[in-house]
Order: sequence, then structure tokens, then C-alpha cells
Amino acid sequence: MRAFLITSLLFCIALISVTSSKANDQPASDTKNQAPEVVVDKYPWEENQNCPFDDYGATGIPSSVMAIMKKLSLTHRITQGINYAAKASNYHGPDTVENGVDVSFAIDISVKCLKDNEIIALLEILAQNDIVAWYRLRGVDGWPEDKEKKYLNHIHAVYVKGTLKPQLSAQVQNWLNGRNGLFTDLPYTYWTPSESVKDKIRDLL
Ligand SMILES: [Zn+2]
Repeated sequence: MRAFLITSLLFCIALISVTSSKANDQPASDTKNQAPEVVVDKYPWEENQNCPFDDYGATGIPSSVMAIMKKLSLTHRITQGINYAAKASNYHGPDTVENGVDVSFAIDISVKCLKDNEIIALLEILAQNDIVAWYRLRGVDGWPEDKEKKYLNHIHAVYVKGTLKPQLSAQVQNWLNGRNGLFTDLPYTYWTPSESVKDKIRDLL
């Protein structure tokens, strides 16, 4: 198996190493479209005693999504799964039924204790795992800057391979177009996915 060694700002955080090198028997042109292999010793967002979490009680999370959350050590950070609010902007409404239970392929993820470079690394790794996501930061990219702080900073994420309701299908397209995935339809500036990961997401649709 070929190993890759790529040094990039994105993965320069201390606890994640991305390795890449060109195999001697392969021309460079054969490797350029392949996503780098991410070798992880420990994620900065894993549970640790210096950053305690409450149980957010999120429900309605599909088993496919939960498997990825477990793989990426994110289950303790899920703040919202399904939400039955009856409004058009409710991206967390039911998408389908799994084992007799309504599920939503949108989840929210807490960014508690994470630095910007770690949040960006998380967004990229989620996309590598078929989940498109935005960091909703108050006052940035169309997320309201409200003094009452009702609009929490968080990551909103959508599992692309799910059976998506129209709102979520539209969000995935919006993500591919570099937009913020909100009704304001502004450019998303906090982070730009790599072209290789965008191609991977396109191939899933
Ligand atoms: Zn959300």
C-alpha cells in the first residue's frame, strides 16, 4: 500500500499527522487525484478530563452517522440530532425511519475547547468521511451575531449518503458551491474544502 506524505497548514496541528509520499514505481500524475491518507494517533476533539461535556440527549441519529461519529471520537460532542420544529428552515426534521424511529441526517457538533485550526481539520476530516459541514460562528458567514447568544457556535453537518429531505439535498449542493448553506446564500469563507474532497462528495450524489 502506498504511503503519502503531505505537509499542509491544515494538518499541522500537533496531534494529527498526514503522511504522503510518491511511490517510486508510479508517475506523479497517477497520484494527484487521490486524497491523502490520514494517519491519526489521537484527535484533539476526543474526550479528555480537561474538557468535560454534558449529555446533550440528542436523538434520531441514523446508525450510519453514529458509526462515523464513533470512528472519529465525536459522539460526546453531538448536541442535536432530530428536531421536530415545524418551519421550513428546520434542517433537523425527519429524513426517514430507521427501525421504527424517525431519524435526521443532519447533526450538530460542539466545538467546545477547540481552536480554529482544529475546527478546520475536523471539517476536512468530516468531508473525507462523507459528511459535509459548516462551522456556524456568530457574526461570520451569515450566522447571526446576536447579543443574547441564542445562536450557538457549532458545526452543522449533513451525511451525504443518507436519504435526504429537500432542504438537506440543497445544503449539500450549496456546500459544493462554496456557499454558507443558509437562506442568505452567502459565500462561505471560514474554510474551503480541498478539490479532492469535493470531487469525492460529488461522486456520492
Ligand atoms: Zn444543525
